[in-house]
Amino acid sequence: MKTPTCSPETFSPLLRDGVDVYFNQGDEVTFVYLATRKRLYVACEGFLQDSLAWLTGRSTLTELLARLPQSENQSAQKKFLSFIDYLFGRGIVVDKDWINDLPFPPDYLLRLERHMNFLLDLCGTPDGVVSVQESVCSCTVGLVGVGAVGGWLCAVLPMMGFGKFILIDPAVVGPSSLSRHAFHRTDLVGMPKVQAAEAFIKAVDLSADVRTHQVAVIPETDLSLILGDASIIINTADEPYIGHLNIVLGRFAFRKGIPFFAGGGFDAHLGCAGELLVKGKTPCADCYSAYFKQAVADWKPVTHPVHFRRNSFGGLPTLAAFSAFSAAIALLRYFIDGSITSDRTELYFQAYKQEHFKISKRENCKFCNHP
Ligand SMILES: [Zn+2]
Repeated sequence: MKTPTCSPETFSPLLRDGVDVYFNQGDEVTFVYLATRKRLYVACEGFLQDSLAWLTGRSTLTELLARLPQSENQSAQKKFLSFIDYLFGRGIVVDKDWINDLPFPPDYLLRLERHMNFLLDLCGTPDGVVSVQESVCSCTVGLVGVGAVGGWLCAVLPMMGFGKFILIDPAVVGPSSLSRHAFHRTDLVGMPKVQAAEAFIKAVDLSADVRTHQVAVIPETDLSLILGDASIIINTADEPYIGHLNIVLGRFAFRKGIPFFAGGGFDAHLGCAGELLVKGKTPCADCYSAYFKQAVADWKPVTHPVHFRRNSFGGLPTLAAFSAFSAAIALLRYFIDGSITSDRTELYFQAYKQEHFKISKRENCKFCNHP
């Protein structure tokens, strides 16, 4: 990767579009990253402030050095080089061709240009962007359930550059799918959801590697046959029972040492943003289950008079999309620096606020503590 210090003859400094610059009192300059709202305050001399207007990408660093005042040339050159190096290290200045120089196919870069710029705000350098995006590219996403929530993930994950998927769902697209699923189209009614989801992913990325299994995950399912090479498992299926599925899939993921995401966004979990569970960092799915069992221990509802309640739960597509996109954000944060928000987050629709509460590992949990 081209850097200012190593290649001044070919490095053409460009002040990025996504960073605003404010000149404050005295010698202070504020840089504001528009994508993240992050602010950076830098003290720098007047001639360095003036040089920011030079950073258009039309001149190489060597050519810019020649513009500096001759009288104090040596010292000014040293300060200017150090200034550019500093701005480069914080993703404020890049080489004009930085995106094209990333080691990804040209059509991938064209499609993900804004995504890469956003990553640069977070990672600081083009090398950091490469490291994150290579992890995204090589990740095989095992997605169990491609309905109201999983369908939206099939939209947003390819847009972030994920290109390998294992899709698992036994159902077919039905009339009610049209008001809930991302891949809604009247002509798809009757088609297996995994096929509709595969076509949806390939509409974004024709080269995506998608494997499909039109099966339900039941106690007899040999997960190693269908999810054996997954790098991450996401559960957005609510049948046969989401709590059971989270435990089965969560244990499998912990045994494999890969992250597991328990999705929310449907039925009784409508406002739940979902949780990313990673062995050694968060409680396991069994600890979550035990927490809720204990939390509702004194809550004894009468047997519900309606036996089949499936169609009575709410199903706002906005809440399903909210949970799916929360999951996508959680995954990207994890890929960037291993960050995990282990709190459970729930959205209260009428109050329009999110509540967070902490769930801890159980002492001596055999799944959390197993080597
Ligand atoms: Zn545990």
